[in-house]
Amino acid sequence: MKVGANVSTEKIAEMKTLNEYIDLAGQSHGHICPGQILGIRLAMLGLRSIGIDDPVKARKRLLTFVEIDRCATDAVSVVTGCRLGKRSLKYLDYGKVAATFVDLETGRAVRVAAREDARAKAKAMFPATTDSSQAQLEAYKVMENDDLFILQAVRVKLKPEDLPGRPRSRVTCAQCGEGVNDGRESRQGDRVLCRSCAGERYYELVTSDQQESEVMR
Ligand SMILES: [Zn+2]
Ligand SMILES: [Zn+2]
Repeated sequence: MKVGANVSTEKIAEMKTLNEYIDLAGQSHGHICPGQILGIRLAMLGLRSIGIDDPVKARKRLLTFVEIDRCATDAVSVVTGCRLGKRSLKYLDYGKVAATFVDLETGRAVRVAAREDARAKAKAMFPATTDSSQAQLEAYKVMENDDLFILQAVRVKLKPEDLPGRPRSRVTCAQCGEGVNDGRESRQGDRVLCRSCAGERYYELVTSDQQESEVMR
């Protein structure tokens, strides 16, 4: 570690012990839950499997795809140091506790998914514990990787416009006038539109009258 160089963030992402990551994940996520333990262990296994022992040193060459927007994802981010705002964390809405870790330098990548039967196995390990979430949490700390996860060697095709670094392009939508980075625009004939104006809008505009009545409901 470089002395004096942004020590606080470097500390956060170094490959640590499970217990050290549990502390950090608890601070970042707001509570410790089975998902945190699963996410930490999933990320530790994934990184080691592609030969990365120190995610801090490797942060410029590491990219992580997460497949769910639930607890485990926060823990994956803590261990890898990959973040949405740095473009090193990619979110795919597949609803699965799984993540893929890519070493951009070597091209090595693995996908790690939580086993569907891990939850039942975990609960069976501490049958006397009445709090099933607590039982699950404790079990996830000690279960074998093979009992928790499925590991697959994979290849991920990455486009230059998906990589971290400065935006590769920026255009202005001909309809709404908003800027669009990194080739996310839609070309319709000779018009350049943002995805919303091209018909993929996920929201509807409402008038202030409508807004009031929505709130009243
Ligand atoms: Zn949680
Ligand atoms: Zn637009």
